[in-house]
Amino acid sequence: TAIPRRRAVPALPQGVTAEAFEAAMADLRTLLGAEHVEVVDQALRDGWYMEHPNTHDMMTILDDEEFVASAVVYPGSTEDVQTVVRWANRHLVPIFPISMGRNLGYGGAAPRVRGSVVVDLGRRMRQILDISAEDFTCLVEPGVSFYALHEAIQARGLGDALWVDVPDLGGGSVIGNTVDRGVGYTPYGDHWATHAGLEVVLPTGEVVRTGMGALPGNNTWQAFPYGFGPFSDGIFSQSNFGIVTKMGMTLMPNPGGHESFLYTFQREEDLAQLIEIIRPLRIRNILENVAQLRHVTQSVAVRGQPRSAYYAPVDGVVPDDLVHAEAAKTPTGDHTWAYYGTTYGPAEVRALKLAAVDAAFRRIPGCRKIDTAAFPADEYFWSRDRIASGTPDLHELRWCQWVPNGSHIAFSPVSPIRGHDAAALYALAKRRHAEHGIDFFPAFCVGLREMHLIVEIVFDRTSAAKKAAALACLRDMVDDAAALGYGEYRTHLALMDQVAGTYSWNDGALMKMHEVLKDALDPNGILAPGRCGIWPRRYRGRGWEM
Ligand code: FAD
Repeated sequence: TAIPRRRAVPALPQGVTAEAFEAAMADLRTLLGAEHVEVVDQALRDGWYMEHPNTHDMMTILDDEEFVASAVVYPGSTEDVQTVVRWANRHLVPIFPISMGRNLGYGGAAPRVRGSVVVDLGRRMRQILDISAEDFTCLVEPGVSFYALHEAIQARGLGDALWVDVPDLGGGSVIGNTVDRGVGYTPYGDHWATHAGLEVVLPTGEVVRTGMGALPGNNTWQAFPYGFGPFSDGIFSQSNFGIVTKMGMTLMPNPGGHESFLYTFQREEDLAQLIEIIRPLRIRNILENVAQLRHVTQSVAVRGQPRSAYYAPVDGVVPDDLVHAEAAKTPTGDHTWAYYGTTYGPAEVRALKLAAVDAAFRRIPGCRKIDTAAFPADEYFWSRDRIASGTPDLHELRWCQWVPNGSHIAFSPVSPIRGHDAAALYALAKRRHAEHGIDFFPAFCVGLREMHLIVEIVFDRTSAAKKAAALACLRDMVDDAAALGYGEYRTHLALMDQVAGTYSWNDGALMKMHEVLKDALDPNGILAPGRCGIWPRRYRGRGWEM
C-alpha cells in the first residue's frame, strides 16, 4: 500500500541553511544535468518491494521524518560519482550511496543522517560489463539486480553452465547486497566471500581498483581477489569509506542436477540436537548449501494470509496451539522446525548424500521426510528450490502481510553451528518476543562454520505502539545477546550505534581504528556519516548516536 506521509519542505541536512542548500543544488544540477537531480519536497510514498522509494525507509521503525533524504542524485558513470563526491566536499553536504535501495529490514534506501543526499547509483549505472563462461565470473555495476544478471545469463545461452547465487528476494542489487554482506542459498551463499575485485570512488574523489585491478592490463581481476599487498576490500563492506562503482563476482558452475528436500521436526527442544547433527554434515559438505531451518510460525505466515485470518485480537502473540493447528492443515503438516535443504550433482552422487542426511536426521524422534513431489506449484517449498538453484524469486515477501501495513526489521546474530548456542539465542529471543507481545519468526541460515539466526519482527508501520514495541524488543535482544558473547552480522540504521558498541573489546580498539581510517579517507566527513556506527570527526560526540 502507498501511504502518503506528512511533509512540507525538504529535510535539510543539519547545519546547512536553506539558501546554502539551494545554491548547492543549483551547482549539482549544472554539474550533472538538472534531469539527474531531484529535491525531495513531495509527500513521501512507501510503495512496495519492487516499486520502492529511494528517498526514505518505507518500513520505518522511528518517526516518519527521521531517515529521510533531502535530494536524490543519479550519476551515470564512475566520473559522475567522482563529481558528486567532490561537490559534497565543497558544500559539506552529507551523501549516502545506494545501489538499488531495496535494503528492506535494514533501512531500505534511507540515509542514516536525515537530510543527506542519496546517491542512487542503480538507476543509470546498470551495465553487466562482463560474463565469462571460461572463468565463471562476472563484472557488474551497482544497478544490476540478481534478476537482471540471471536473465542476461539465460539470454546469452549460458543458463546451462552458470548459476547466480540469489538472496530470498531477487530484486536487490548484486553490489548492494554484497557490500552489506548479504546471503544467498546455494553453496556460493556467502556473497562477500565470492566477490572478486572492486572499483571504488574514495570520499575525496579518487578512484581505486582493488586486488589485481590495480595492475594495468591484467586479465585476473575477477579470478584472484587479493592482488599484492594489504587486502583492502574489507574496508569497503559495511562501512562508509568509499562508493563501489564496479564489482566482480564469481559464478557457480551448474552442478549437473539438484534436488531439494524438506524435513520436519516436532518438538521445540529438538533444536539443539538437530544443530549438533547439522554441523559435521555441513562442514564436511554433505549438507552443501546455506540451508534454512525455519520455525512453524513463519511457515504459517509465509502462506500469505494475515494473522487476523487465524486470530482476531490485534494485540498479543498468536497462541502456539493455534499456529500448530494451522500448520497441520498445510501440505507440510504440523511441525516446530522445517529444514529446507538442497543437494547437488548427478543423481547417483545426490543419492549418497541424501542417504547420509536421512540417516543422521532420523536420529531425532518424530523426524519426518516430507514427500514434496505432489506439493502444489505455489507451495513455499518450490520457492526455496528455485532459490537454492540460482533462480530469483519473490515468494518470501508473503510473510510481510502478517499484519496490516506489514513492515519488518531483523535481529541477526551469528554463532558457531552448535546446539548450545542455537538454544541460547532462541531462548533469549523467544523470551523478549513474549515480553513485548510479538509473534516470533526465527530462522537459522547455516553457513560453513557459523550460522546466522535471522529473527524477523513484522510490525504495522502506522502504529506508534507497535513500532515502539518492535524497537524495544530489538534493543533488548541486542544487549542480551552481547552479554552472552553474541553479535549481529548486519543491522538496521536505527541500531547501528548500539550494535557497533557491542564490538567493544580492548576499550573499543576496533572502532578507534575505523575512526582513524574514516578521518584519513574522508576528512570532511561527507560519506554516509554514522553508517555502521562509524562517525567522522565532524559528527563525533555531538549527539548523533542513537
Ligand atoms: P542497497 O539497498 O542498494 O544497499 C545496501 C546498503 O549497502 C546501502 O544502504 C548502502 O549503505 C550500502 N551500499 C549499497 N551500494 C553501495 C555502493 N555501491 N557503495 C557503497 N555502499 C553501498 N537479504 C539477504 O542478504 N538475504 C536474504 O535472503 C534476504 N531476504 C529478504 C527477505 C525479505 C522478505 C526482505 C524484505 C528482505 C530480505 N533481504 C535479504 C534484505 C534485502 O532485501 C537484500 O539484502 C537486498 O539485496 C538489499 O538491497 P539492495 O541490494 O538494493 O542494496
